[in-house]
Amino acid sequence: MIKILNVPVSSLSMQETVNYIQERLQKQQKTFVVTANAEIIMMAQNDSAYLELLRQADIVTPDGAGVVWAAKHLGSPVPERVAGYDMFHQLLLLAAKTQKKVYFFGGKQGIAEQAADKAKVLYPGLVIAGCRNGYFQETENETIINDINSSGAEMLFAALGAPKQEFWLDENKEKLQANLLMGIGGSFDVLSGQTTRAPLWMQKEGMEWLYRLMKEPYRFKRMASTLPKFVLKILAKSSNDCN
Ligand code: UDP
Repeated sequence: MIKILNVPVSSLSMQETVNYIQERLQKQQKTFVVTANAEIIMMAQNDSAYLELLRQADIVTPDGAGVVWAAKHLGSPVPERVAGYDMFHQLLLLAAKTQKKVYFFGGKQGIAEQAADKAKVLYPGLVIAGCRNGYFQETENETIINDINSSGAEMLFAALGAPKQEFWLDENKEKLQANLLMGIGGSFDVLSGQTTRAPLWMQKEGMEWLYRLMKEPYRFKRMASTLPKFVLKILAKSSNDCN
């Protein structure tokens, strides 16, 4: 584990992370997983509740070229990027193999269902216990939680975007009976085919952020205001550590 701007980031590989989650699921231990990119780490710098939540999570994985770079720069390289979308697939495979029911919560009306149909084709034997869109009022919380619990799902994937999904999962952790709680951002949009992911070469070159920026230009303001600050903070941290 390495601390990046006070956020404890795991140094497990993808396979080790999946093994860690599998072991905890076998022991019926509730496991809250966060996949953190540079934007999430920067959000936590200005939001003490979010920072505390990340510090309390069972595992925070390095999701994104920025976080992998930062770990290396701070002298504790991580073996690889452990991206939310990739882990989502690994965990669906695990669910199908171990007969654990999953619940898809989030995205626009109908998207979770479309993603579920794709997931069932990709992972034969996978049981989707339920789906529900991610647009709701606070007053619907109890109904949503009851629906998830009565579905018998052991793995809950919440795709509400960061930080909403983490706050929702954390706030309702005690009431939720699923043992895996994980936020997966726009993963249902990708799995359902609503949006596409960067080509593999871009992912390998650490340029997925650039692809997202080209496809979703509304992200520019958010990224432009956080990523350079993240880099500067890491550079400042490493030069302080050297002095
Ligand atoms: N979303 C949702 N409820 C909301 C806001 C967003 O279900 O109140 C969904 C949205 O439809 C999209 C996902 O959350 O599928 C956010 O995707 P994005 O790629 O923007 O995630 P981020 O990168 O912000 O974590």
